[in-house]
Amino acid sequence: MTPTSSPSANVAFAELGLGPELLTALTELGYEEPTPIQRAAIPQLLEGRDMLGLAATGTGKTAAFALPLLQVIETGASQPAALVLVPTRELAVQVAQAVHRYGKKRSVHVLPIYGGQSFQQQLKVLKRGVDVVVATPGRALDHIRRGTLRLGSLAVLVLDEADEMLDMGFAEDLEAIVAEVPAQRQTLLFSATLGPRISSIAAKYLSNPVEVRIEEEEDTDAVPLVRQTAYLVRRPHKLAALGRILDLESPDAALVFCRTRNEVDELVEALNGRGYRAEGMHGGMSQEERDRVMKKLRGGTVDLLVATDVAARGLDISHLTHVVNYEVPSAPKSYVHRIGRVGRAGREGVAITLAEPREHALLKNIERLTKQKITVTSLPTVADLRTRRLELTRASVREAIVEGELDRFRVVVEALSDEFDLFDIALGAVKMGHEATVPGSEDDDQEIPIEKPFREKKRGERIPAKGSRGQARGGGSTSLFIGLGRSAGVRPKDLVGAITGEAGVTGRQIGSIHISERFSLVEVADGVAEQVVQALRSGKIKGKKVTVRIDRGR
Ligand code: AMP
Repeated sequence: MTPTSSPSANVAFAELGLGPELLTALTELGYEEPTPIQRAAIPQLLEGRDMLGLAATGTGKTAAFALPLLQVIETGASQPAALVLVPTRELAVQVAQAVHRYGKKRSVHVLPIYGGQSFQQQLKVLKRGVDVVVATPGRALDHIRRGTLRLGSLAVLVLDEADEMLDMGFAEDLEAIVAEVPAQRQTLLFSATLGPRISSIAAKYLSNPVEVRIEEEEDTDAVPLVRQTAYLVRRPHKLAALGRILDLESPDAALVFCRTRNEVDELVEALNGRGYRAEGMHGGMSQEERDRVMKKLRGGTVDLLVATDVAARGLDISHLTHVVNYEVPSAPKSYVHRIGRVGRAGREGVAITLAEPREHALLKNIERLTKQKITVTSLPTVADLRTRRLELTRASVREAIVEGELDRFRVVVEALSDEFDLFDIALGAVKMGHEATVPGSEDDDQEIPIEKPFREKKRGERIPAKGSRGQARGGGSTSLFIGLGRSAGVRPKDLVGAITGEAGVTGRQIGSIHISERFSLVEVADGVAEQVVQALRSGKIKGKKVTVRIDRGR
């Protein structure tokens, strides 16, 4: 669809063979066009083919397998028609949510099952009848062995992030699960990497599969002169992070890319609420609405344009200084197109990308394609922002001095100089000017946790399976929110002491600790998260009862 076409959307999704119920769901979610992996995978999967899909998180792979699956399965039976196996609890929840959203109009019942959650609760829902189960292998096997998950009617089996599952030592569990599934089924295997182990399980479980991988030719000619920076930040902190970056960069005009229409609308609303001047542009808008927005942007009454790829494609904005990827684009090619909007006519442009820690692999793909470095760096700190704000004030004061015409203020300074030192009078005046003119309230300066790339490891390195089931099986970590921070005098050793003492877990099962003014975030091994939450809720930290919950960061 081009920016001038009708806003009725999803023509391209319809061309892939998806039915009206799914198309309506996609329109409601604000998806404007399929990503490359979706374009390649969906028609083949609708024909019932087995598939080996090579795609990382962030490419749209979940919809690539979930949409056809939702179209082909029979719903409403007493046993599940589809099983999606994923490596971690977070992914189970995330994939189940996606399946639920896509399948809403078909009344599909989906259940995530993973370790750490109550067995009884999962059992109750399984008994009521579930169409799609999204599970971590360990917990799926527990249910199969107890006879509470029966797979005799399964039509579709998906192994998602298979390389991660193998890295976590789930190979045997997968084998045992596949043995319970009818031989006559459709099997899909998605992996970010293709090594001998993936090839071997593909050969074992898939029957005459199509292989889908999005090979992109190198596109180095088109890559313009652009300073490329990425920040790793989880979704709940993205808005605050964007605000901080905008304050520091002070773009003259920036194009901010989101993936969906809904995200565009939400971000515009949020930015305007924070005092920025933003307008949105997406495929659901009429030509008059687009023209009105472009006029504002050209006239300088708006300096941030938030857009989807589809809507931005035909736009010509000459004075852009910054491109911001609020979401990492689902294909490296779109990244190149997006950043091509700045750095024209020999001027250096700036491209900024906010990536979730899990999307670090996508950034690497982009670097391979463009043969250019994306510098992954830390977000500006509160101290950086304050320094920047003071710089702005210094520049304004300097400008006022250079401009002159200060005589009429002399009487104020002279009157005060009887009582105060001249330097102090200057400080008082600067403070007033600073607080009155520099944007951004210091009360807004919340802490944003520093993120590391997700499970970054060297080529060929395996993450060893450890003794405890929590880590060996769960592998990943869960972030816990603890409602006590620096203001209560909390130090890392207090948190470690409380967790090891109250919950009986070992220090090795505790990961990074981030303490901010009023709360703390602590990473613990997936398998012990629930246990730690329960234990800390019934105990005290530094003599206080505190709020403790799983931080749904992702
Ligand atoms: P995944 O790679 O499956 O983790 O998907 C990454 C993100 O892209 C998710 O937030 C999806 O909701 C979103 N997404 C997937 N397909 C599309 C699409 N065609 N248009 C816009 N957003 C999408």
